[in-house]
Amino acid sequence: MSSSEPAVDDVLDTPFFLRWLTAAAASVSREAARLTDLDSAIGDADHGTNMQRGFAAVAEALEKEPPGSPGATLILAGRQLISKVGGASGPLYGTLLRRAGKALGDAERITPQQLADALRAGVD
Ligand SMILES: [Mg+2]
Repeated sequence: MSSSEPAVDDVLDTPFFLRWLTAAAASVSREAARLTDLDSAIGDADHGTNMQRGFAAVAEALEKEPPGSPGATLILAGRQLISKVGGASGPLYGTLLRRAGKALGDAERITPQQLADALRAGVD
């Protein structure tokens, strides 16, 4: 792990969540063609395009109106995915992030265990 990457036991604050989702948006953009290739085998070959559009909206929203807490960050990202990504992916990933965000409440700093529990709530 390079020194620019936060360690898992670091405090998870709002800037951490902003970095995380911004990095996720960059990864989705970088891998969009590959996602679409994978989708073309069993679907209608739009997964990469859809996810890229959704995560671009996430990155833009986070920059325009930076949320004040980790939970609010996940909720904002989830809302963008639900409204911008078509098919099943938007509701699935968006609901995951929104429910995880709601589980975190208004806490300004959370532990890795709280994040794990929140993601579990989102997956459920
Ligand atoms: Mg599709």
